[in-house]
Amino acid sequence: MLWNCTETALRELLPEVLGEFLKRNPGACMCPRCVEDALALALNNLPPRYAATEEGVVLVRAELGQPPEKALLVAALLNALQQVATNPRHERGREPWFPTCR
Ligand SMILES: [Zn+2]
Repeated sequence: MLWNCTETALRELLPEVLGEFLKRNPGACMCPRCVEDALALALNNLPPRYAATEEGVVLVRAELGQPPEKALLVAALLNALQQVATNPRHERGREPWFPTCR
């Protein structure tokens, strides 16, 4: 079993970063489809950090929690959210996955 710690770290940062992003972009669609698109974009722009054991995960996660690394993750995520918000991959108002999506 392999874990991509970058993905885990991004998912953990997500609520905080989403909140920040929505403050600056109140109209942005945040349905699961858009959020997963943004996560995929951000992950494609970040180096993967794999670990094969739980101990490895703990070590890598500690590194990713350090300010310079964390800042990179937050920046990549904000960037990706901006891209998806500017160009959502579904028609506005026609998102089937999530009824409150605008
Ligand atoms: Zn959406």
